[in-house]
Amino acid sequence: MKNVDALVVGAGAGGMFTAARLAHRGYRTLVVERLDRIGGRASTHDIDGFKVNNGAIVLEAGGVTEETFAEVGAAYDIRMPQPPLLYRIGGKDIDVTKGGWGLLLGQLTRQGAKLMKGIGAAREDDGLPEEELTTAEWVARYTKNENVHAVFRNICGSIFAVGSEELPARVFLTYFTRKSAFKKFGFHPEGTIGAWRALAEVVTRHGGEIWLNSEVTSLTIEDGRVTGATVVRDGETTAVGCGFAVSDAGPSATVAMAGEENLPADYRAEVKRRDRPSSMITVNFASQEQLIEAPGMLSFGRTRRLCYVANFSGLCPEMSPEGWNLYSASGVPKPAVGAFDEAAETELVMADLREQIAGFDRARVLSTVVTRDGWPPQRAVAGFDLAPTTPIPNLWNVGDGVKEYANGGTTACAETAKLVVEQIAERHPAGAPR
Ligand SMILES: Cc1cc2nc3c(=O)[nH]c(=O)nc-3n(C[C@H](O)[C@H](O)[C@H](O)COP(=O)(O)OP(=O)(O)OC[C@H]3O[C@@H](n4cnc5c(N)ncnc54)[C@H](O)[C@@H]3O)c2cc1C
Repeated sequence: MKNVDALVVGAGAGGMFTAARLAHRGYRTLVVERLDRIGGRASTHDIDGFKVNNGAIVLEAGGVTEETFAEVGAAYDIRMPQPPLLYRIGGKDIDVTKGGWGLLLGQLTRQGAKLMKGIGAAREDDGLPEEELTTAEWVARYTKNENVHAVFRNICGSIFAVGSEELPARVFLTYFTRKSAFKKFGFHPEGTIGAWRALAEVVTRHGGEIWLNSEVTSLTIEDGRVTGATVVRDGETTAVGCGFAVSDAGPSATVAMAGEENLPADYRAEVKRRDRPSSMITVNFASQEQLIEAPGMLSFGRTRRLCYVANFSGLCPEMSPEGWNLYSASGVPKPAVGAFDEAAETELVMADLREQIAGFDRARVLSTVVTRDGWPPQRAVAGFDLAPTTPIPNLWNVGDGVKEYANGGTTACAETAKLVVEQIAERHPAGAPR
């Protein structure tokens, strides 16, 4: 039987941020991952020599993400495009780097100043709208302009993986007025998995281990506490003992691993109620001709479903075979939460790509992926997250099902990991006897 201080279930972004912090603080740490690689929904695989991301494509520069890498002594080798983001509206690519929201909205509507005032008001403590109002309804208070609505929809899709009609305005405005809000970001030249490799190196440098192809089938609960887990590793069943456990598998999966009988009914009901995964449709494509000039992110005004195209060429040539350019496009279906017609929604993204990207018809489509349900772009729509603590005092959740209010993606995973490790350090000081 293997004995550790910290058992981390899952090597996604949440699990890796947590494991690196724990190992760095001196906890004997074991990460158990059922897949053959780290990174979860922010990993990378090879398709004919292209490094294709299976989820997250950009990582935030600065903020809690970069702070974590610095604190644990891991390399953070992302490359930041300049300008980071262009908006393709009416066939023109607009750089809003310096003018921000004001410049963008000012180009789209005469109501731009009023909207800016609305965003400004949200900076005040009592300036946030009521909980029930959606972002689309909030925008409609200021303008009917379809380009403006389209831009807000695409921003909600890009950051939160839902449409503006599915995201509380309060979340949107909190994010843009109080959070780091992905103002600066970059691509990893190895693909997003490169970031987690650096954190994995921290775990092993401090004597921790990462078991791949290994699944936690159940957590052992004794006297209301986690004491270990049953792990199936390469087909063999192994027992692991631990002082505490952190699950990156998502709250519902954590309940299943811990056993429903070990958790109170009201908690189980809350987990079920907040199990609200969103959906996204991604098209990875490549071409020998350059289809988009500037490396970085290209977002759009009025589209059917397409929210953005990432252009890795130029900045990260390592991601493609020589002479090729690599792109990744994503859109959110309608609705992004709940049932939708996959084939029809994917076709709408393709139609947008043909319309927005000259030469797309000649490009090679490497993969078309619909992420939803058990493999969603966000496990909980922002604003509907569960707390990371569980009724079992030495069991926590991390990852994008337990985000802090109004956060998203890998940044949210870094934030929760930091908070959870701080709680662990208080309750279970490293080196203290169990
Ligand atoms: C198409 C798409 C685009 C995105 N774009 C971005 C972006 O550009 N930037 C950004 O920051 N975010 C982006 N996101 C969101 C981001 O990818 C996720 O928020 C983040 O990766 C979630 O990480 P996690 O650790 O919460 O969960 P996961 O990545 O799902 O990790 C959980 C891990 O646990 C493992 N696991 C589950 N159960 C068990 C078990 N019983 N035993 C062992 N292992 C188990 C799983 O295999 C998995 O590896 C995107 C997501 C998608 C899908």
